[in-house]
Amino acid sequence: MKKVLALRSIQIGGKRLYLAPWTDGASFQKNVIKKVSTWIKLVDVPHSYWTREGLKHIASAVGLPLSLDKQTATLNPMKYAGVLVEIQYDCAYPKAVWVPVIDDETGEVVKIRVGIDYSSVPQSCSFCRAFGHYDSRCEKNPSYVKPPAKEKAPQKNKGKEKEKDVAGGPVEKTRL
Ligand SMILES: [Zn+2]
Repeated sequence: MKKVLALRSIQIGGKRLYLAPWTDGASFQKNVIKKVSTWIKLVDVPHSYWTREGLKHIASAVGLPLSLDKQTATLNPMKYAGVLVEIQYDCAYPKAVWVPVIDDETGEVVKIRVGIDYSSVPQSCSFCRAFGHYDSRCEKNPSYVKPPAKEKAPQKNKGKEKEKDVAGGPVEKTRL
C-alpha cells in the first residue's frame, strides 16, 4: 500500500485517481497535488543510450525518472523505452529531446532526435500551481464563469403555500 501511495496517482480504466496518505484531521484537497507520476515512451533511443543511466538522462528532460517498464528494464534496444517519471504541475511536455551521439563513420558528434509520447496528460492548473483541474475550471481564474445553479422548480399552488405559511407562523428554533 505504501508503494502505491508513493506514486501519488494511479490510472484505473482511463481515469486518474489522486492518492494522498491519510493523516488525522487532514482534508483531502485535490488542489494541493503538486506532483504525479506518469508513463512516457522514449521513441527511437540511440543504442548507446540503452543503459539505465542513458534512459534516465533522456527521461529527466520531462521529470524525475522513477522506473523502467519490464521490457525496457532488459535494456535490449527496441522501438521505444517505457519510463515512469514524476512530473510537476508545470511540466512542459516536450515532444522530443535531442541527444548527442558519436557518428560511427565520421567520429563526429551528431544530435539525434528522441521522440516522447505521453500515455496521459493529467489536468493541471497554473492558478493553483497544482494538478487536479484545468485553468478553465478554476475558481481563481478571473475569466472563470461559474456554471449556473440548477433552476428552482416553479412553485405550484402558490396560494396554498402562503396559506400554510400563515398557519405555520414563525419557525420555532429548536435547541440541539
Ligand atoms: Zn485552480
